[in-house]
Amino acid sequence: MSTKQNITTITSTLPGNVTLVAVSKTKSVSEIMEAYNAGQRDFGENKIQEMVEKWEQMPKDIRWHMIGHVQRNKVKYMAPFVALIHAVDSLKLLKEINKQAEKNNRVINCLLQVYIAREETKFGLESEELIELLDSPEYKNLKNIKVVGLMGMATFTENESQIKSEFQFIQNLFNELKDTNKFTELSIGMSSDYKLAIECGSTMTRIGSAIFGERNYN
Ligand SMILES: *Cc1c(COP(=O)(O)O)cnc(C)c1O
Repeated sequence: MSTKQNITTITSTLPGNVTLVAVSKTKSVSEIMEAYNAGQRDFGENKIQEMVEKWEQMPKDIRWHMIGHVQRNKVKYMAPFVALIHAVDSLKLLKEINKQAEKNNRVINCLLQVYIAREETKFGLESEELIELLDSPEYKNLKNIKVVGLMGMATFTENESQIKSEFQFIQNLFNELKDTNKFTELSIGMSSDYKLAIECGSTMTRIGSAIFGERNYN
């Protein structure tokens, strides 16, 4: 199947309010252009350097999503253009994003990553830490960032009921917080689990291999 066909198929299964973020990490500019020419405008990358290089070479109406773990010293490179930073997991990082956004005269949209997987390796905030962050005066003083919702990654497993319970956990947290915090986005779901994520209220799915095929890391 071609990239274009994959996008058409996936898009037809997504409810109208759900944004498809095409995860293009490791893929070349020409591979990404195939998706662009099929009408895709939201792309996700997990390395800042790689995203910057692609941004420089590609059409400027692309919305670039940083979906990977972010090192504070690299925020400055993406601050001029990044559309949404998905995996923010500390106040320290938010402050750096705020500082770099201010330098660029813009407000950068962010999501807070919630730790939902039963795996040691995944990043994210526990729900208590998240609520503490949202309640802190320091957070409320940051004028150049806007937290628009939550992001989560389920455990890498074939056990659907486990994935579902992890998605339901973040969905409940999202529903609890969304009115007071004006949250609109819940970023859950990848190639293997996006249908479950949609059932659990996802508004953004981050899909890579189901669009571009398997990745070659070399
Ligand atoms: C790579 C990646 C994805 C996409 O994974 P696929 O299984 O290829 O769809 C989604 N989210 C994050 C955070 C990723 O790093």
